[in-house]
Amino acid sequence: MTDENQATIVYIEDDMASRILVQRLLSSRGYQVHVAADGLEGINLARDTEPRLILMDINLPGMDGREITTRLRSLPNFADMPIVALTANNSPGSRELALAAGCTGFLTKPIDVATFPGQVRDFLEGRVEPLDVTERNTHLQLHAQNLVERLETNIRKLESANKRLVELDRLKSDFIVLVSHELRTPLTLISGYAHLLDVQMQSASAGTLPIEALSGVSSGLQSGINRMQEVIGEIINVSRIASGTLDLSLGPVRLGDLVNRIQSDFAEVCQKRHLTLHCSGMDELPLIEGDGNRLRTALENVVGNAIKYTPDEGSVVVVGRKVDDETVAIRVRDTGIGIPPEEHRHIFEQFYVLGAMAHHSTSKSAFQGGGLGIGLAITKGIIEAHHGRIWVESDRRDSGSMPGSTFHILLPIRRSINSAGD
Ligand code: ADP
Repeated sequence: MTDENQATIVYIEDDMASRILVQRLLSSRGYQVHVAADGLEGINLARDTEPRLILMDINLPGMDGREITTRLRSLPNFADMPIVALTANNSPGSRELALAAGCTGFLTKPIDVATFPGQVRDFLEGRVEPLDVTERNTHLQLHAQNLVERLETNIRKLESANKRLVELDRLKSDFIVLVSHELRTPLTLISGYAHLLDVQMQSASAGTLPIEALSGVSSGLQSGINRMQEVIGEIINVSRIASGTLDLSLGPVRLGDLVNRIQSDFAEVCQKRHLTLHCSGMDELPLIEGDGNRLRTALENVVGNAIKYTPDEGSVVVVGRKVDDETVAIRVRDTGIGIPPEEHRHIFEQFYVLGAMAHHSTSKSAFQGGGLGIGLAITKGIIEAHHGRIWVESDRRDSGSMPGSTFHILLPIRRSINSAGD
């Protein structure tokens, strides 16, 4: 076995089948072959293993093979190392471009297993493919242009990702303020009732408390605790949706029943605010396969928002319709302030509170009362976990003319076999 045959080779290649083939072939000839699936990993591997030769795929995700070669050539120990391009791209000029970028040679894939080990040995023994000066200069210029173009594209991508991160960071800060506010209000209620209980116990004669006083206190405490549980439940839901771990417990769901319950939950608020909440077609919908509790949360958020963003005396209409044998549709239309078209996508993002920080109050049902900005993100997560779709239609936001909003939901009847609207 010669010295060459014990040489270490690094192969940078994103295609697993090519990696396995080349590694097996060269290992069987006594070479030590280390593989990397992308450029950054490849540069680290080359630095760590100090190979005698590098085989370089050209079309790689992230940095391409020519860019990696140019980078390696600037590092100590890599100036004279054989770096051989191994690529399926045999288009005119690609050989010259690879050599101008710093490659020692240019081999094409698919490799010929009979001749490939010999070609590798030639490069290990000092073979360098020639490129005349004019060709080198022309392709070096082209290579530089490609580099700058890619640099510009990447800077643009980074800038827009950074902008998005700054925005997300701001939304999260607002969210923390809202959550603290949402939790502090019921906590104040709980602490008030606890104090009341204390006062009543101290003043109670002979250690007895009238039962009415106790039940008033306990229902006050309960409502504070319920609200806190609701807020915490919403936060847990949104984090499950964000991490893709929302679990569904599937069974037959009668959407009409869900909406009837939602209607009776909101009956008192509607009466107080002289709003009408009208439902039609829901009871005629077929049973669907889904998670009843989660679907109820989803519908409750949409109907709750419709009520919240509609002024007193307005109306909210929920209409159910069987689209075909596979899909049902639910439409929730309100006569409220509306949503500007440029916000239609954003309102389904988590923490997005459209203009509500200024209006924020803790009432869930008051006109434009506050929310955490996660209700619709949760709703969308639940609907999509059912392989359904949700979107909104609204012309504009105008609290003078009240253009209204219409939310559309599509749900497959059998979640396991169908994707609504796909
Ligand atoms: P929030 O908890 O703030 O209500 P959501 O995620 O439920 O958060 O809604 C996000 C934003 O979408 C709200 O801040 C509100 O501005 C807007 N929105 C949602 N539903 C309606 C509706 N029916 N009419 C007008 N605006 C709405």
